[in-house]
Amino acid sequence: MDRVNPATGETLEPVEGHSDEEVDDALARANTAFESWRDRSMIERRELLADAADVLRGNKREYAEIMTREMGKPISGAISEVEKCAWVCDYYAETAGEQLADEALSSASEASAFVSYEPLGPILAVMPWNYPFWQVFRFAAPHLTAGNVGLLKHASNVPECAMAIADVFERAGYPEDVFQSLLIGSDQVEAILEDDRLRAATLTGSEYAGRAVAETAGHELKKTVLELGGSDPFVVLDDADLDAAAATGAGARTLNSGQSCIAAKRFIVHEDVYDEFLDKFTDEMDALTIGDPTDEDTDIGPQAREDLMEDLHDQVERTLDEGASLELGGEPMDREGYYYPPTVLTDVPQDAAAACEETFGPVAPVFRVSDAEEAIELANDVDLGLGASVWTEDLERGERVARRFEAGCCFVNELVKSDPRVPFGGIKDSGYGRELAGHGIREFVNKKTIWVQ
Ligand code: NDP
Repeated sequence: MDRVNPATGETLEPVEGHSDEEVDDALARANTAFESWRDRSMIERRELLADAADVLRGNKREYAEIMTREMGKPISGAISEVEKCAWVCDYYAETAGEQLADEALSSASEASAFVSYEPLGPILAVMPWNYPFWQVFRFAAPHLTAGNVGLLKHASNVPECAMAIADVFERAGYPEDVFQSLLIGSDQVEAILEDDRLRAATLTGSEYAGRAVAETAGHELKKTVLELGGSDPFVVLDDADLDAAAATGAGARTLNSGQSCIAAKRFIVHEDVYDEFLDKFTDEMDALTIGDPTDEDTDIGPQAREDLMEDLHDQVERTLDEGASLELGGEPMDREGYYYPPTVLTDVPQDAAAACEETFGPVAPVFRVSDAEEAIELANDVDLGLGASVWTEDLERGERVARRFEAGCCFVNELVKSDPRVPFGGIKDSGYGRELAGHGIREFVNKKTIWVQ
């Protein structure tokens, strides 16, 4: 597997991938591991997860540096990502017992009836490079603790992250093969989905990849959870705290150098505060520090791959060709590595690329609307429906707007974020199913009804 450091363009030592025979062997071992892992007590599984949290915290710089090297994440964000992985482990170590406890069905009063949550077996996780640790732990922490075993197919540009994650579980003392990293290309995924030993799959990534995995899994009648892209609206109403909205908005757009499914991607602003917001927001975007991702003070590092940066620039050029105006940025930076600067676009036609395609980098179109109704209409006028954020000093008004967003995760006066305590996932072309919280851990379990007469 070829790897390039996106901050320098330097080729990293290639990593040997797994052959089809090795994948077959991994599936056999996963199946064997499941037979005993499913019978471990919930307490043991929770204790091991707490140990995984300790391993993460104890080695956070080592793991963070791998992310920075392979996909260019600024080191301070990479360390925070490892800490967040420890948090999701702590969270499920504390709550999984309660979340998967038998659920009494008291309405069936003539018998003793309850739901028992039982694991399904080996689950495939097809994961992306953007949060190379977090996306995997968001899957593994709940689903291993539910008694399933995990097979990770990580993105091809982050194989060292994939190996390091397997190492976390090994260091924590998990039984062999409860979690395995498969170093494979996407062309090896279909055969795994078709294999009877695999019971379900989850994918985080592009719509294209999601459709491919769901199609095969659907044919095999295997459950999937899909977390695909987002084109999240960030709505600023006329009574918003503009300083807070501008500062949080710039952070929400440039999170992970703009490469986040839940980044704020379309800024929709009430005309009464449009000019003031635009000035403040452009200043915030302009003030961000772009540079070497190994430097603790860097806010924005390189884009993760050259092709992704080129795609992003193509979206900006097509948007300008459609008649948009450029307020900031707009050209790849003249330095080694794949750097794209914070970019602000205005007068963006609704059918232009930056309005209707997902922009996976620090590019922010800002739209002017005349009232909250028009803001909601524009917010919902895309095929994606992952997150949405609205800014207003009137919390009831904010809640009313949030209820009308066509999205899975809606926030008032806060950026869209994934937090272990609340369910996360989308609707429309953003996918289906939920991760995190109690909803997440119950996605890959047999919700078995037991009726005792
Ligand atoms: P992909 O969707 O191609 O990659 C995500 C994962 O899916 C990787 O592990 C990839 O493997 C795998 N994959 C890709 N195609 C298939 C397939 N046909 N069958 C099975 N698995 C597959 O994303 P890219 O890296 O190419 O990024 C492209 C765009 O996707 C971004 O610009 C962004 O819009 C979106 N994206 C969204 C993410 C999110 O968090 N929702 C995360 C990453 C990207 P491999 O690397 O081997 O191709």
